[in-house]
Amino acid sequence: MKELFKNRLGRVVSPKTVDFIERPVMEPADDEVVVKIVASAICGSDMHIFSGRHPSVPLPVIIGHEFSGDVAAIGKGVRRVEPGDRITVEPCIVCGKCDACLRGHYGYCEHIGFTYRNGDGAMANYITVKEARVYPLPAHLSYQAGALIEPLSVATHAVRRADVGLGEKVLVIGAGAIGILVTALCRLREAGDIALCDHSAARLAMAREFGASRTINPREGDDLEKAAREISSGAGMDKSFECVGRESTFIQAMTSFRRNGLATIIGIFEEPNIRIDAMRFINYEIRVQGSQGYCWDFPIALKMSERIDLEKLITHEFPLDDLQKALETCLDPREESIKLVLRP
Ligand SMILES: [Zn+2]
Ligand SMILES: [Zn+2]
Repeated sequence: MKELFKNRLGRVVSPKTVDFIERPVMEPADDEVVVKIVASAICGSDMHIFSGRHPSVPLPVIIGHEFSGDVAAIGKGVRRVEPGDRITVEPCIVCGKCDACLRGHYGYCEHIGFTYRNGDGAMANYITVKEARVYPLPAHLSYQAGALIEPLSVATHAVRRADVGLGEKVLVIGAGAIGILVTALCRLREAGDIALCDHSAARLAMAREFGASRTINPREGDDLEKAAREISSGAGMDKSFECVGRESTFIQAMTSFRRNGLATIIGIFEEPNIRIDAMRFINYEIRVQGSQGYCWDFPIALKMSERIDLEKLITHEFPLDDLQKALETCLDPREESIKLVLRP
C-alpha cells in the first residue's frame, strides 16, 4: 500500500489535555474515500471526553466526528463521488452482516462503532471513510454548515422517534446545539408551543431565533414546572426532550408532561445511575425512550438544512492547532459557546 499524504490527528491524552500524533494516509481500499477535512466541529460528547468523564470512551482517544471536506482520493470501486467533490460523512461504522444491518436498521448494528472510537478522528487533516457513509454537500451549505449535518441528524433522529406532531406542546431541556436543533425541527413539524429550558441567556436568545416560543431560565428565577403548567393550562406538556444528561433534568423531562406523555432522552449521562420514581410510570402511564445517533437521518437532515440556518449556531472558529484552546473555550461558561468549528 502506498502512502498518499501526511496526517496530523488531534487526540485527548488525559483529562483536559490534547496532543497531536502523526500518521500517514494510505491508499484507500476499493470501497473507501479519503477526505481532506475543511471544517470540523466540536460535539457535546467531545466535551465529556475532554473532561475525562465520558461513560463509554476511555482515554487516550482521537476526537472529531462532525466534519466536511473535499474528496482527496477514492478506491477503485467508488462510484458516488469523485476527487474534488464537497462532502460530509455519517461517522458510524457498521458491520453490514448482523440481523439489524440486514434489515436495514444499521443504527442497531450489534457491532456499531464510530470513527473516533476506532482510532480515526476528524480533528485532523485527512480521514478515510466508507463510500456508503459519504454524502455530497448541496450548494446551499458551506463547509462549516456541512459539518453540522451530523448534529442535525442526531436531532432529526430524536424528533422522528418522538413523532412530534401538529400543535403539540413540547418541552426541550438544554439549549446546546442538539436542544436548539430539536427546537428548530419541532417548529418545522408545526408543534404548537416549544418551551426551552437552559441556564444561559445567550443560548436561550439563540433558541428563540430557531423557533422556541417560550424560554425558561431557572438562573433568572423561572420555574420549569410552573411554566409547563401555564403553557398547557395545567395538563402538562405532550412531549419532552432531555438534552443535558443529569438526574435532575431526566426527572424534569419525565414529570413535566401530561399522562401518557413521551420523554425522549438524548443527553450523555456522566453519572448513568440515577434515582427515579418508578410508580410515576404506572400512575401516569408515561413513556420514556432513548435516542442515539442516526439511521437514514442524514438525507433528511440535508433536506431540512435548506430551512435551518446552521451557520448561525457557530459562535467560535479556530485553526486546528488551537484545539486545546477551543476545547477549553467550550468548557468555559462565560464564553456561552454553542458550536465551535476548527479549520485544519
Ligand atoms: Zn456529535
Ligand atoms: Zn451490523
